[in-house]
Amino acid sequence: MLLFKTKVMITNQIQVIAFDADDTLWVNEPYFLETENAFCQLLEEYMPHDILSKELFKTEMDNLSLYGYGIKGFMLCMIETLSRISNGRAPIAMADKIMELGHAMLQQPVILLEGVEEVLKHLRKNYRLVMATKGDLLDQERKLKKSGLQDYFHHIEIMSDKQTADYQKLIKHLDCQPENFLMLGNSIKSDILPVLELGGHAAHIPFHTTWAHEKVTESLEHPNFMPLNTMTEIIELLKK
Ligand SMILES: [Mg+2]
Repeated sequence: MLLFKTKVMITNQIQVIAFDADDTLWVNEPYFLETENAFCQLLEEYMPHDILSKELFKTEMDNLSLYGYGIKGFMLCMIETLSRISNGRAPIAMADKIMELGHAMLQQPVILLEGVEEVLKHLRKNYRLVMATKGDLLDQERKLKKSGLQDYFHHIEIMSDKQTADYQKLIKHLDCQPENFLMLGNSIKSDILPVLELGGHAAHIPFHTTWAHEKVTESLEHPNFMPLNTMTEIIELLKK
């Protein structure tokens, strides 16, 4: 009974559905992990893999407010880490190799996740669909184009961050109220918590790997929160 009431309440309220892109619509984090592995292998003469990984993460966190999210910032962080751990003595050829790793990332194929097109096809009939993602502007535009998904979306928002204030701006721009807004994504920290805080709805779709920066350990219970196992479960939940 409670479930039924909740479902009716949700479908009546929601007007706009926003999708996170990386690891929600398409594969992303595995490319970063692959590159990080190659980076650690390249530098193994200086430090063991696990310590290098921590050093790289430290550089990323130190620079996050300056570089934002995305591959270009990641490339700079790899080079800065190389310089720091080698006390500035690493050969420039190693920096060249890091640039190559970054360039390869920028040319990776866009692999859609299971159920994505089916979900977008269904939901576009009754809802305004939005893509809301962090990352490099040019790179996210490239991925969207390669994905072939752009026609499903009424609006594309490439955000420098996903804090509560960023969502507030987006919701205002979309001319809707938080209670009419549903965000779907793989990151509890970036896609779920800030939207719930504003009074919006949020659905979590887990991806098998999560960047350390996006990890949240405590479990979440909230009347506007929908934990899903797969993306396609949202179709049944929002059926009118
Ligand atoms: Mg994501």
